[in-house]
Amino acid sequence: MKQFVINEVEPLDLVFDQPGHHHNVTDKRAMAAVRPLQQQVKEKGLWACHLTPDLGGQGYGQVKLALMNEILGGTNWGPRVFGCQAPDSGNAEILAHFGSEDQKAKYLRPLLQGDITSCYSMTEPQGGSDPRVFETTAIRDGNDWLINGYKWYSSQARWASFTIVMAVTDPTAPVSDRFSMFLVPQGTPGFNIVRNTGLVGESPEDGAHAFIHYDNVRVPAENMLGEEGRAFEVSQVRLGGGRIHHAMRTLGAATKAYEMMKERAVSRHTQGTLLGHKQSTMQYIANTYVELLQFRLLILHAAWTIDQGDKEGGQIGIGSAKIMSPKILRDIIGRAIQLHGSLGISNELPLGQYWIKAAAQGLVDGPTEIHEVKLAKRLLKNVRPVDGLFPSEHIPGRKAAAVEKLRRFLELSEEELA
Ligand SMILES: Cc1cc2nc3c(=O)[nH]c(=O)nc-3n(C[C@H](O)[C@H](O)[C@H](O)COP(=O)(O)OP(=O)(O)OC[C@H]3O[C@@H](n4cnc5c(N)ncnc54)[C@H](O)[C@@H]3O)c2cc1C
Repeated sequence: MKQFVINEVEPLDLVFDQPGHHHNVTDKRAMAAVRPLQQQVKEKGLWACHLTPDLGGQGYGQVKLALMNEILGGTNWGPRVFGCQAPDSGNAEILAHFGSEDQKAKYLRPLLQGDITSCYSMTEPQGGSDPRVFETTAIRDGNDWLINGYKWYSSQARWASFTIVMAVTDPTAPVSDRFSMFLVPQGTPGFNIVRNTGLVGESPEDGAHAFIHYDNVRVPAENMLGEEGRAFEVSQVRLGGGRIHHAMRTLGAATKAYEMMKERAVSRHTQGTLLGHKQSTMQYIANTYVELLQFRLLILHAAWTIDQGDKEGGQIGIGSAKIMSPKILRDIIGRAIQLHGSLGISNELPLGQYWIKAAAQGLVDGPTEIHEVKLAKRLLKNVRPVDGLFPSEHIPGRKAAAVEKLRRFLELSEEELA
């Protein structure tokens, strides 16, 4: 798989390299190059492996999926060639769990085949991490729903055959019951992309993250996905294992930067020595190796925990990996850029792109701070408070108990010791 990715997929990254282009299934030239590769992946039994066998996946456990995603992490086109790109992978999971037979036939099947791409539209301009500020509404009108509002950073909307949008259906309900999900097919009147925002460094208005105005978008009642008011249950399905795969792809990108650092260290001379002979470079290399190994083991442990059926442990592992991802990538890419000097920060190496990826990692699927809070709550859930005034590790108290336990030895007479 690794050789295939290096030989066949990496060239796609270099030629079809416009922002988010790996989601543009409407580019006939790019897709002409991609389709035969997807066919080879299918023949090898490696297509859409995150899915269960009934949906055309392989039923691989999370450990194997994690290892596959590590290989895909160094490329943009890799996930599309292997049928596991976000947000399609998560959207497919939602449709498989909550879709009606009709929705599955219309949207899920072509998505699973890789024939189309999709979009997930939740974040609004006034905030992404706090659903209490979401304002987009869907109001029942006879046999239809009318959707109105603005959504921000809806990735891939410009190329998507359908968008899954979250809208308020009962503004008086508690926040957990306030929202429902709807399927909006491409071309629905009123689905207006205000602009396609790009990431830092990308040309303005030609990015992959759409600012959308839902202006009286009318969809039939059967386009509701899941039950009314249950949008959060629907959205949770798409974030499970995907976060592990995302973390492993982050590891793949960070590992690439590490390999670049090592090559640079033994290739570049400055001030009379190889870069790799300078102590600071050695520290960079050694610390990077250790951090990568720690991160890899953390993710694989999380994947293994999920495979053991330990749901709570799995959630703790997923949260830990999610928190570590942006930090690891930022630290390692920062060192790699530094070692490559001006070339490192230029657009002639992939490191600048990875740097933005690191920042994005701290926001996609919710900011790091929120994951930290969630993880801490899980970790504290079953911890019992101490009895008494002092912590259970307080030495005077422990010593008194130890003296009591060992008193008979302390009180042994000289004759008994003789
Ligand atoms: C590359 C990329 C792709 C994306 N794709 C999509 C997509 O396809 N569909 C979609 O709907 N959204 C998408 N998003 C949006 C993403 O979900 C939001 O960026 C994220 O939820 C944060 O929302 P926000 O950007 O509005 O930041 P805010 O919610 O304004 O948060 C900004 C900052 O405030 C701080 N903060 C927020 N809440 C807390 C808290 N409780 N405690 C402490 N600090 C806090 C954090 O530092 C946080 O980063 C994407 C984002 C990125 C970067």
